[in-house]
Amino acid sequence: MGMMDESVLAQHPGVHPSVGKFLASDLPLLLGGEEVPAASGETFEVYDPSTGRVLARVAKGGVADVEAAVAIARRNFDSGAWSTATPRRRQDVLLRFADLVDQNAELLGHLDALNTGLPVAQAMGATDRAATHFRYFAGWATKLQGTTIPVSTPEQWLNFTKLEPVGVVAAIIPWNTPIDNAVWKLAAPLAAGCSVILKPAELTPLSAHVLGRLLYAAGLPEGTLTILHGFGDVGAALAAHEGVDKIAFTGSTEVGREIVRASAGNLKRVSLELGGKSPAIVFDDADLEATVPGVFNGLFYNSGQICCASSRVLVQESIKDRFLDALAQYARDLTLGPPFQDSSQMGPVISAGQFARVAGYIESGLAQGAVPLVGGAGAARGDQPGYFIEPTIFTGVTPEMRIAAEEIFGPVLAVSTFRDESQIRALANATVYGLSASIWTRDIGRALRAADMVRTGIVWVNGHTVLDPASPFGGVKQSGYGKELGRDVLNNYLSVKSVWLKY
Ligand code: NAP
Ligand code: MG
Repeated sequence: MGMMDESVLAQHPGVHPSVGKFLASDLPLLLGGEEVPAASGETFEVYDPSTGRVLARVAKGGVADVEAAVAIARRNFDSGAWSTATPRRRQDVLLRFADLVDQNAELLGHLDALNTGLPVAQAMGATDRAATHFRYFAGWATKLQGTTIPVSTPEQWLNFTKLEPVGVVAAIIPWNTPIDNAVWKLAAPLAAGCSVILKPAELTPLSAHVLGRLLYAAGLPEGTLTILHGFGDVGAALAAHEGVDKIAFTGSTEVGREIVRASAGNLKRVSLELGGKSPAIVFDDADLEATVPGVFNGLFYNSGQICCASSRVLVQESIKDRFLDALAQYARDLTLGPPFQDSSQMGPVISAGQFARVAGYIESGLAQGAVPLVGGAGAARGDQPGYFIEPTIFTGVTPEMRIAAEEIFGPVLAVSTFRDESQIRALANATVYGLSASIWTRDIGRALRAADMVRTGIVWVNGHTVLDPASPFGGVKQSGYGKELGRDVLNNYLSVKSVWLKY
């Protein structure tokens, strides 16, 4: 038996039986497909944030395991077992995997519900997205093609390009949406023919491990993928390793900067999906029936732990009161609770550390003179087990406040007002981040002018956090570089070879 606190599942009636079986033994590393303990023999505990209890014990990879994983990935890549497999074969494996995700949806979704506290119906949504995402990228495996280029050389040359997999990819991901994060970092590089080492967040390694097992069950050749559980030192060792050709990172801007520095040794390629402080810009002609829930869910979904969350609201002064009254009502009506309770609409934040961090931001908002419309003092509840934080909406937020500029990654919304369109450019862009923005108006001219003014990688008009595997996602400024999703993400995992042939 593993070290799971046996009573933890009893707290969550309705958990699928496959979850108990999965958690019954300690989780090893998935080294090139083989399940092995960490070289050091060390393990770490994974928690249920809605009770604070131990959910699982997991092998704690270290630098020796990084060495082993990189050696396996290099051998696999150079062998051609996956990197030169026919496009049809890569497509078939990814499609079979998508079917296995569907067949194991409860195991995956329920594990993430337990591990993140997200209400189970919402957690199940990620399994649907995972299968859809893989089917989309399976299609790309057979459609990656170079071009023939009409060169102007004096002699006759045929010049064409080939798209080749970049090599060994190390992917490092955070804890906020574990299945989505893993899937975004697996489908595209595997479709391209890369070998992948995935380092899940130490807080949420469980569902990524299942995805790894299912990829091998779908026919991925041995050695093509490693799921390397561990802490930040594992990520840092991967970022610095000469045997890694590319790092794909999602997480904080601070760690993103460290990764860029560490990558300099072998000049490995890097793509970064970092933090945000995305504004929702609400004009006075907006359809409030749609705008209020749209802006509300844009921030409070997943307790605000979403990189593109609408964590700043800029609302036009003339409708401020009407808009905020309705928004506050949504916040008051929201039911917090554990993931398998039917009434739960929002869960806890991920950990004691995140709880303290968010509570600190709420205190700083109060100390700097922001006005709590809902929540505020006492929102971070210490009166029960689990890391529950009530929604907090601050009004009167001014640019010098920390809650105006810094990524909180919790259920805390910062509201400020504007008089007219001329202020949008300065207000919306007053942050180092540039991930996304939403614009709420019925006036298409206004919408398009505002979309031009915001410096972000994504703009939604009359929506927020609308995603599709076919549409590129990613930021500008300190929100990172290199797109996720769509045809664009494949550029992260491919290099162009130009071939010349004299005739
Ligand atoms: P993080 O520290 O950036 O961690 C992300 C991933 O990087 C984790 O797997 C982490 O391992 C690993 N890591 C840590 N230090 C590393 C290093 N020096 N080199 C390479 N990899 C390293 O993010 P976090 O601690 O999970 O969250 C902190 C804050 O980041 C949040 O409060 C939020 O503001 C922001 N964040 C943003 C996003 C986003 O999608 N934009 C997502 C999550 C968090 P460990 O798990 O062991 O730490
Ligand atoms: Mg960290």
